[in-house]
Amino acid sequence: PPLYKQRYQFIKDLVNKYKPKKVADLGCADCTLLWMLKFCKCIEVLAGLDIRENVMKEKMHRLSPLPADYLQPSERSLTVTLHHGSVAHKDPCMLGFDLVTCIELIEHLEAAELEKFPEVVFGFMAPAMVVISTPNSEFNPLLPGVTLFRHSDHKFEWDQAQFQSWAVAAATRYDYTVEFTGLGTPPPGTEDVGFCTQIGVFVRKYPKNGETVNSEKHTEHAYKTVFKAVY
Ligand code: SAM
Repeated sequence: PPLYKQRYQFIKDLVNKYKPKKVADLGCADCTLLWMLKFCKCIEVLAGLDIRENVMKEKMHRLSPLPADYLQPSERSLTVTLHHGSVAHKDPCMLGFDLVTCIELIEHLEAAELEKFPEVVFGFMAPAMVVISTPNSEFNPLLPGVTLFRHSDHKFEWDQAQFQSWAVAAATRYDYTVEFTGLGTPPPGTEDVGFCTQIGVFVRKYPKNGETVNSEKHTEHAYKTVFKAVY
């Protein structure tokens, strides 16, 4: 299957393994991953965030309940919300999540946004688990037609050492562990270049203490809710 589908499947497998109840997808674009995740029975809260409102709204109606959901209500409750905003800003609606996914997001961030990102995601949202994927620039020479970046909207593409040192610094600062994996294996003989997509899986070391969570709730809203469905 194409790499973007492998990335969604990677998240689905992780959800089925760890059974998070609250999952947020940052840079959710046309909500394909959220739509796939709504079929995971363990999930009770799904949230999406993107800076491009129109892209997010394009196919958001597939996140609405289907007639069958009304005719045969399931035991679990499910709430799906979409927010318009930037990962450079904190909003209390992103507190209390078990899993936050950032699939092919960070390479689209301007330097100033990227600088704020670790504090927002690891410091403020502080979910139990964070998954970040990004292109591995070492793989680019194996891709036909790629000169500088894989996509014209990419602000940077990191090699394995660059991504790993950034990820380890963020993990250390905010008390997470991080493990690296990836998708898209290089052809035999070129193993050193690593995976086409590099992935960091971050796990929070300590449970979040209630006091911090409460004080953070007083942060002002920065996102606009553009969609909400309750099953
Ligand atoms: N995660 C999706 C996927 O894997 O198919 C979409 C990835 S797309 C390459 C990157 C997305 O990040 C775009 O939808 C873009 O609008 C969004 N984005 C860029 N900067 C953002 C920001 N500062 N805050 C939130 N989303 C942002």
